[in-house]
Amino acid sequence: MTKPPMLTAQQALDHLLSHAKSVSQAESVPVQAALGRVLAEDVQSLVDVPPLDNTAMDGYAVRVADTSISSSILKIAQRIPAGSVGAQLEPGTAARIFTGAPIPAGADAVVMQEDCTIPEGSTDQVQVNVAPVTGQWIRRRGEDLAAGKVALTSGTFLRPQELGVAASAGLTHLSVKRRIKVAAFFTGDELALPGEPLKPGGIYNSNRDTLLACLKSLGCDATDLGIVPDRLEATKQALRQASKDHDLIITSGGVSVGEEDHIKPAVSAEGRLDLWQIAIKPGKPLAFGAVRKSDNPADGEAWFIGLPGNPVSSFVTFLLFVRPFILKLQGREEKLPQSYLMRADFDWSKADRRNEFLRVKVNAQGGLDLFPNQSSGVLTSASWGDGLVDCPPSQPIKVGDLVKYIPFDALLK
Ligand code: AMP
Ligand code: MG
Repeated sequence: MTKPPMLTAQQALDHLLSHAKSVSQAESVPVQAALGRVLAEDVQSLVDVPPLDNTAMDGYAVRVADTSISSSILKIAQRIPAGSVGAQLEPGTAARIFTGAPIPAGADAVVMQEDCTIPEGSTDQVQVNVAPVTGQWIRRRGEDLAAGKVALTSGTFLRPQELGVAASAGLTHLSVKRRIKVAAFFTGDELALPGEPLKPGGIYNSNRDTLLACLKSLGCDATDLGIVPDRLEATKQALRQASKDHDLIITSGGVSVGEEDHIKPAVSAEGRLDLWQIAIKPGKPLAFGAVRKSDNPADGEAWFIGLPGNPVSSFVTFLLFVRPFILKLQGREEKLPQSYLMRADFDWSKADRRNEFLRVKVNAQGGLDLFPNQSSGVLTSASWGDGLVDCPPSQPIKVGDLVKYIPFDALLK
């Protein structure tokens, strides 16, 4: 049997992404329900934001020409609270004005109240103690958003601040891509669910909770198809069920080529499959393919990604490969997760020939600490950690080295 080719992480990712295409269907949802969704079209502002030139401070709207000498005294001719519009500012006068209120015609600066005094005994005069410069404390009409201009672009992942931008642009609803439907099942005769007794040799199914939560945090509709025994027919049946109403099927376990690993023959029988060896650690084997939705080719296929069974391997390969694949299906326009150069406060002398992803934590000194046990079965390394260090092949790390750090936070949304 020929050994499958060893791919770099980048090659595997490029290959996956070359297949993924954004879903075309969109739906209109209220802005308040759009958190975590992906914008399906450009959004134009309905209004200028702010709608008029207005003051950024509580104080006095003035004409700069009237205040060029310090300690100028002006008559307070009007009072403009936020939400009302003042009258023309006559020469030699000032308008008492409050943050957000429109600048009256004729005024060209605002003096903040801290820079003014009311002359002794006066009720309608203000003394300007600091001469203003033209435009001071004025927020210009449309400086945030201009009516008719694109405020948010198609493919944007909607965070709280984007919802606020949509509201300030006057929108009640947003057109977002439909959710990606993902079915997951978990192979392994040793697996049991928490709450069930563990038989000898048994282990609780942790991948279910990790992976379903990953899918939810990416805004997918996730279906749990449960534990599937290590048998070919059961695996094929689970695939047929999963393919029906889903865009993507993900599984954990059974992707090696042992006698108990049925993913390869099952997916090959129900569709098509490549089994990859990726030169990464944890996570080496990964299966990619597609499963027919029915015997009628016109019904199409569901994508298939088979992750390794070890809990850290399945988590890390999900973050590195499944997440970008899903983002592409969602039509999310963004670069792959940001990595940062951070200082290693640890030595890693046993560099592997594979590209390793080490579980690390940011310490109070702004450096990175390493979890002592980097085994692919030790999931507590990931819960202790804040992220991964992307460690190039055969490259040891010494205390003080700058390393590529990818925070989990950036990968779980
Ligand atoms: P496999 O990829 O099926 O060869 O499994 C590799 C290792 O991961 C074995 O030790 C399995 O017991 C373990 N494993 C597989 N699936 C799960 C799961 N869902 N939860 C926890 N451990 C698992
Ligand atoms: Mg197994």
